[in-house]
Amino acid sequence: MFKHKWRIARIFGININIDPSWLIIFFLFTWSLGGQFFPTRYPAWPRSLAWMMGLLTSLLVFASVLVHELSHSLVARQQGEKVGDITLFLLGGVAQINDEPKKPLREFGMAIVGPLSSFVLAGLFFLVSVFLHPASQPLSAAALTLAVINTGLGVFNLLPGFPMDGGRVLRSILWQATGDMRKATRIASAVGQGVAFLLMALGFLQVLRGVFSGLWLVFIGWFLQSAAAHGYEQVVVRSVLQGVKARDLMSTSFGTVPASLTIQALVDDFILERKERMFMVMEGDDLRGIVCLEDVKATPRKDWPRARVRDIMTPKERLEAVSPETDGRVVLSSLAAKDVNQVPVMEYDGSLVGIICRTDILRYIKLKTELGL
Ligand SMILES: [Zn+2]
Repeated sequence: MFKHKWRIARIFGININIDPSWLIIFFLFTWSLGGQFFPTRYPAWPRSLAWMMGLLTSLLVFASVLVHELSHSLVARQQGEKVGDITLFLLGGVAQINDEPKKPLREFGMAIVGPLSSFVLAGLFFLVSVFLHPASQPLSAAALTLAVINTGLGVFNLLPGFPMDGGRVLRSILWQATGDMRKATRIASAVGQGVAFLLMALGFLQVLRGVFSGLWLVFIGWFLQSAAAHGYEQVVVRSVLQGVKARDLMSTSFGTVPASLTIQALVDDFILERKERMFMVMEGDDLRGIVCLEDVKATPRKDWPRARVRDIMTPKERLEAVSPETDGRVVLSSLAAKDVNQVPVMEYDGSLVGIICRTDILRYIKLKTELGL
């Protein structure tokens, strides 16, 4: 959601990030559990105890979501997919899995493991709750709450709309049945939008009846609706890029600029003056990195006079070259995986023949879809 996220841990070689929006949900959870739910249910508890249990439960909800996402990543990795970071944000977590799965059965396994792990966690927390009951009522209550929340997470994720796990399960079944991934995605995404509208409608009804927490349903439905539409788009993009090579996407005209140049000078003297959009950044004779129009746009304008090209460029170490024959979809995934805007295209002998920027790919897709190809 936001551009900046915090890396908090690395588990099984997978980076765990927190998006700032996650703090909102964390406070809301702690507040509604510690300030509302526990005090109402257990009026005998001192206020401080209720707050402590609220905080503990929220932290463990966070750990539960993490386990859920990790299960997706680990199964994906076991099936040979490349997995990226896990990011926790306002509505839970996302495990970044770079490639679309190649076989329906694999997708089925990758998707179903998430809700399953939530159900397993629910069962474990339930056992803990029973086990702790004679010793500590507050801890037992927290564990019971976690059992309920994990059950809810599992059920919610099983809703049959793409991009939720249930939608992926549905898609893999349709895909297996029809042999057509695009069609399967279209149906799963339509069902997903249906589910989303249903949630929004339910939320509105609740609000009309004076239950303001219904706003959450409206919000979640709205989010799911856009995600469902987006998921389909992504598949379309991938099918447009089918058979397209890096050489079809790359630009071959690029200038060179010194690393110490200010952004302002880059814009005035190079981008506007020479109408070029990408540059190799040099220090003396050494290539230091590449800078694209996208990098400039991502820098606040007030920083332009002071910031240098070296501050915003993608440094050489993060550039992973592709060959002119590389598949367009692979190029797109590698941009997303490394979270960079550009990738150099090199011949096998190491000579630079072109650069592909994110916008080049987008422009290509737009052109091809406008022409109806
Ligand atoms: Zn999931």
